[in-house]
Amino acid sequence: MTHAGEIKTLKNERLSMHSTIRIGGPAEYFFLPETVEELMVILADVSSGSLPSPLRIFGKGSNILFADKGLSGTVISTKRLTAMTVLPDGSFLAQSGVSMPYLARVAATAGVSGFSFMSGIPGTVGGGVAMNAGTPDGDFSRIVREVRVLSPSGTITRLTGEDLQFSYRHSIFSGVHSKTMDTGSDSNLQGGAMILDVLLSGVPADPLLLQEAGRMALLRRSESQPLDQPSLGSVFRNPQPDFAGRLIEQSGLKGAKKGGIRISPKHCNFFINEGSGTAGEFLDLMSETRQRVQDLTGVVLFPEVLNFF
Ligand SMILES: Cc1cc2nc3c(=O)[nH]c(=O)nc-3n(C[C@H](O)[C@H](O)[C@H](O)COP(=O)(O)OP(=O)(O)OC[C@H]3O[C@@H](n4cnc5c(N)ncnc54)[C@H](O)[C@@H]3O)c2cc1C
Repeated sequence: MTHAGEIKTLKNERLSMHSTIRIGGPAEYFFLPETVEELMVILADVSSGSLPSPLRIFGKGSNILFADKGLSGTVISTKRLTAMTVLPDGSFLAQSGVSMPYLARVAATAGVSGFSFMSGIPGTVGGGVAMNAGTPDGDFSRIVREVRVLSPSGTITRLTGEDLQFSYRHSIFSGVHSKTMDTGSDSNLQGGAMILDVLLSGVPADPLLLQEAGRMALLRRSESQPLDQPSLGSVFRNPQPDFAGRLIEQSGLKGAKKGGIRISPKHCNFFINEGSGTAGEFLDLMSETRQRVQDLTGVVLFPEVLNFF
């Protein structure tokens, strides 16, 4: 039997290295499991007390603001759990760490539609399901057939897409390992359960058309979003049918700055880290932006970004 002591343990690993906005202090114990067996061993060691609680699980940290002071307990990133199988009926069984842009490319090449929305979202399939990530072209709620869920005690259960209660950028997993900045955990799925793998399916389509659609979506994205600078994507949910970025710009905040964090002049719902930005500055800029938008437009913005504090 393997023990966490034999799996590479990173002590005081800087979470900024594992976040797309490059912010975050040290994690007391940090793991990057490469197999389900390794993952199970880490969970068992947390359950038995050999590794400290709390346990937090994330993917590529593309929607999480990590605390400047870091995190106590045990932190796992799934980004090396990347096995994927194409089943005979054309569906995909993807481990939670599979990258969304990679899956979008594989699906397009295989001639399966419904996956192209993933091409410019820099996260994992597990994080995508948890957030019901998407674009106007689609989201996970439309393609998830089944999810295998691993409980901290090592039990595996199956949930259907319906069980996940998807809504706009939300599923029952959204608040399990993190908090929405306003309300704390907004999930009723307790106990630190995690998504182990996901069964996804679309419908057959012309691979060439799908590849072209993916290229065009990426081009449109790079024209409208600051993809060359560290960010967490959209900071606020769009107050549909309006857009948070439009309201922020209308409120005169384009390019506004707090310390090392700036509201991107290219897309006002993206806050970028100019190099020395901190989580504290990010949160201050968020609350000032919210207040200003509410004062000037009457609209209350709600965060899309999550926090690990
Ligand atoms: C440049 C840029 C563009 C973006 N564009 C979009 C976009 O167009 N549409 C969109 O929806 N989002 C977008 N995002 C935000 C982000 O990429 C998505 O929310 C994505 O789904 C997060 O995936 P992740 O692996 O990084 O998850 P993380 O940020 O690591 O985690 C997000 C949440 O999921 C949970 N989670 C992660 N993995 C698991 C698991 N295996 N089991 C249980 N819970 C888990 C975490 O605990 C956390 O609560 C963008 C971000 C950036 C930086």
